[in-house]
Amino acid sequence: MDMFASRVPGFKDPAQYAQINEIFSSVQGEGIYCGVRQLFVRFSQCNLTCCYCDAKDAWSISKTCRVEKKPGTMAFQEEINPISIDRFIGIIDRFHDYPHHTIALTGGEPLMHAQFLANVLPQLKAAGHYIYLETNGTLPGHLASVFDFIDIVSMDMKPPSVSRAGDVWTEHEEFLRIAAQKRVFVKIVASEDLDLTELKYACQIIASVSPRIPLILQPMNHPDAKLHINTSRFITFQDIALRTLQDVRLIPQCHKVLGGIL
Ligand code: SF4
Repeated sequence: MDMFASRVPGFKDPAQYAQINEIFSSVQGEGIYCGVRQLFVRFSQCNLTCCYCDAKDAWSISKTCRVEKKPGTMAFQEEINPISIDRFIGIIDRFHDYPHHTIALTGGEPLMHAQFLANVLPQLKAAGHYIYLETNGTLPGHLASVFDFIDIVSMDMKPPSVSRAGDVWTEHEEFLRIAAQKRVFVKIVASEDLDLTELKYACQIIASVSPRIPLILQPMNHPDAKLHINTSRFITFQDIALRTLQDVRLIPQCHKVLGGIL
């Protein structure tokens, strides 16, 4: 810890406290685990600014974290941020009687809280939880620091033609080489703007690690929450990806069909 930062009034050690946006129980709506029941922990803050982000309220820190009182009720209570390790474990324990497939760490970018995670994940694992990491795949050093406690990695790749958030290919490649030692799949949120050269490059990166890593092509939802998909364009994306990879799936966000709070 920075000894000078620790003297700033109000400073909270990021290894002991985290800024969390919300904690709730719901159904996973994306990727190859679509449909499983998860306990979602949405961390605040992100190191990217994707133009299509549907969690922009998690970019900044909020005074309170909303916590679902009982799974499925969508009734919430407020917890003051930042949240300490003990308080976090206590909140997770409240869901003890409700079985969940995994605890989904999401955001924002959960790995921005890697110091905190390095302290809480061993306790969650000791309590029998399985950990599912949803990440933008750009912080490989942070992943390495919590790697032992992660069971499943859902890694986004961000082609700049779609994200408008700059080029992060180098970070993606380094990240995937680490993540591939766990159960991992890659997801690309795609619009019709997706540059085919970028798609091929993403596939090359994945194939260089393993051509068996599943790639999910997820059509982007528009601000009206409706899916506007040019099917022939997406079939072309899939055709191109299948030239390099063995398992390429076209899966839209299913929670937008189910409704709810995700
Ligand atoms: S990485 Fe995820 S949370 Fe961050 S800006 Fe992009 S879509 Fe939003």
